[in-house]
Amino acid sequence: MRKVSVFGATGSIGQNTIDLIARDPSSYEVVALTGGSNIAQLAEDARKLGAQLAVTAHEDRLQNLRDALSGSGVEAAAGQAALIEAANRPADWVMSAIVGSAGLAPGLEVLKQGATLALANKETLVCAGPLVLETARAHGADLLPVDSEHSAVFQALAGEDMAAVERIVITASGGAFRDWPLPDLARATVEQASSHPNWNMGQRITIDSASMFNKALEIIETKEYFGVSPRQIEVLVHPESIVHALVGFRDGALMAHLGAPDMRHAIGYALHWPERRELPVQRLDLTALGQLNFSSPDDARYPALRLAREVMSRGGLSGAIFNAAKERALDLFIQRRIGFLDMADIVATVLERFEGTDSLIDADMTLDNIQQTDHLARHWVDEAVLRRAG
Ligand code: NAD
Ligand code: MG
Repeated sequence: MRKVSVFGATGSIGQNTIDLIARDPSSYEVVALTGGSNIAQLAEDARKLGAQLAVTAHEDRLQNLRDALSGSGVEAAAGQAALIEAANRPADWVMSAIVGSAGLAPGLEVLKQGATLALANKETLVCAGPLVLETARAHGADLLPVDSEHSAVFQALAGEDMAAVERIVITASGGAFRDWPLPDLARATVEQASSHPNWNMGQRITIDSASMFNKALEIIETKEYFGVSPRQIEVLVHPESIVHALVGFRDGALMAHLGAPDMRHAIGYALHWPERRELPVQRLDLTALGQLNFSSPDDARYPALRLAREVMSRGGLSGAIFNAAKERALDLFIQRRIGFLDMADIVATVLERFEGTDSLIDADMTLDNIQQTDHLARHWVDEAVLRRAG
């Protein structure tokens, strides 16, 4: 039996992970499941899977969780320290599917115990790529990509020599506003930004797909995980979301990974790696699809992509600044305090301020420094918004 834990179990990726685990209960011993405020879902899954431990991130929900688990034999815990403790519980395979930079600290703990970390939480690599890779190396832990594009690249690279790679192309659906006239974007609402043409995902990543901040994070994730240079990474708009990524080799070959837009493929690949096992995903019928379309992203429509290039050329803590500023700007958009296009403007302002702050530019990449920088970037976003209002 493999010991597994799921961080962010109540979210979109977490629920898809639980779906796969629950189909084969005799193969897995579930150590810990973690969630946020959806206590009913967390308790239901912990009971169903016979988990040792369930953790809510919210300390004030501990009693609710205890009540929901009473008589089940599942331990209940809450708060940041409990998340770290859960990450320290011995496991063979752990899904990192918390949303945001909150996923970083538990992920690092998992790597320190040498467990395999299946990484849906791209923010981990954006904020702390070198630190995360070094931690995995030092503890002999495997780090497996779960983002669909990165899983696709990882699969296309199996058995290949990285020295033969010329370029990596990741695709983007173009999000909710791909076909909107540019002048209308400023008035785009939270509801409009929260619907994705092809994927069913959490609200935050869905809005990030409309603004392409998601793809911006993924370009950085590609650089960090595969160790390629920024100029080797390309983005293609591909409205059908069937080709997830392509790898170009020096002999001119281009290896594409195709699949239905269902995250259970990438999750299942990481769960069974290095084997391939049967997965409950739709098989593609290319004749029914008929055609696949590709185009270059429009820089004016998607300023986030340019910002990602700036972050990559700067390195260090700029990824942590970028991600935290984006997270805070997204909070403010969801709260209807800023407009859709203001998000990229404000993140750009925060990145400029970072460039001018010598003490941060050369700071070491430690978890402490990243967390302080993250905090500061959020504060800078609030200041930038106040300045605009005043
Ligand atoms: P979601 O919002 O559906 O779920 C997030 C999970 O994290 C929930 O369990 C929530 O309770 C928990 N959580 C939120 N804030 C937390 C905090 N501060 N501390 C601890 N736990 C917290 O998100 P999702 O769409 O499942 O995405 C999860 C991660 O996977 C993100 O990093 C996202 O970018 C990445 N990802 C998602 C998809 C997808 O299809 N949904 C695809 C690729 C990558
Ligand atoms: Mg993705």
